[in-house]
Amino acid sequence: MMTVEQLLEKLISFPVLGGESNLSIIQWIQTYIASFGIKTTLVPNDSNTKASLHCKIGPDVDGGIILSGHTDVVPVQGQNWTSNPFELTDKNDGNLYGRGTCDMKGFLACCLAVLPKLSKAKLTKPIYFAFSYDEEIGCLAAPELIQNLLSSYSEKPQFALIGEPSLMQPIIGHKGISLYDTYVSGSAGHSSGILKEVSAIHESARLILWIEAKMKSLIEAGSIDNRFTPPHTSLHVGQINSGIAANVIADKAHFSWDARVIPQDSLDQIITDFRAYCNEREEILQKRYPEFSIVTKEQHPPVPALDTADTTSIVQLLKNINPIHNLGTVAYAAEAGQFSEAGIESIICGPGSIGQAHRANEYVSKEELSKCITMLENLIASFSK
Ligand SMILES: [Zn+2]
Repeated sequence: MMTVEQLLEKLISFPVLGGESNLSIIQWIQTYIASFGIKTTLVPNDSNTKASLHCKIGPDVDGGIILSGHTDVVPVQGQNWTSNPFELTDKNDGNLYGRGTCDMKGFLACCLAVLPKLSKAKLTKPIYFAFSYDEEIGCLAAPELIQNLLSSYSEKPQFALIGEPSLMQPIIGHKGISLYDTYVSGSAGHSSGILKEVSAIHESARLILWIEAKMKSLIEAGSIDNRFTPPHTSLHVGQINSGIAANVIADKAHFSWDARVIPQDSLDQIITDFRAYCNEREEILQKRYPEFSIVTKEQHPPVPALDTADTTSIVQLLKNINPIHNLGTVAYAAEAGQFSEAGIESIICGPGSIGQAHRANEYVSKEELSKCITMLENLIASFSK
């Protein structure tokens, strides 16, 4: 049996970045959980280089709770660390330093630290662990993990607690996010022929202005949710590549953009409207140049927004097991939206501050870890006879 600090030290020592194989850390976690006599299931990717893990402790009855976390972290390159990021460092200031301490191996360590109690508890409802990979590059693994978990057990879990860093505040909302690449193919030529060729740059500019106008029209139509900062859906083009010279018509252009939607706006509708506008432009310009095309691809499947009503049972459950009762929303996207989309009441609550995440000298305070352990112990008690 290991303490939460020993567990965190071990978890931090696996330098698994989003996109990389996480088998080293997930197999270590699997072995540790198995030492308590608990059966685990791995959900591998197609090439068997990565795997999520889920397990259940407790009876086969509806109404259980999933404790969710991810095993990958973000890179440390170019960051000014004063200690080895993959070695847990105690600077005797109450904080434990290392990549992933707050985002979000601190929560994983807390889940593993309560296993001695959890494995012996007389649970009346089950508690599940669901640990994923590739969260940091777009919450890629969670949908398959959730489906595998739901189909592996005969009963239906009711709740999911996602331990992203929130300073132990219950978080009931996050925006939905999607990233896109748009490729425009026109015809090349001397710049003097601009009215007979189709410039991919000119057409890209039109599409980009459409995207900006779409954002403004949503705001003007009153799509405002003051729980978020900013309180509206944002649409933004962050990268554009095209052209070789001022006097050459560009035949190819590519731009990357993102949509961060408040729960009341629909990513689907925005992209449907965008594609309709692209089709309109294609029809017009194919008369001039039949090969003209606009192709838009998702960089990865969209992460849906989280919008848990403050009247749902998960909110009451959190109030019973955790002393912080004021509910919050966050600006980042997380797996919570995916659990919610699968019909599971979802909430974010975890140790450490998101202000620490992804930075040099990331840390979690020992106090936050102990608050999280108390919450999990209260959860076990409230789920026991
Ligand atoms: Zn995270």
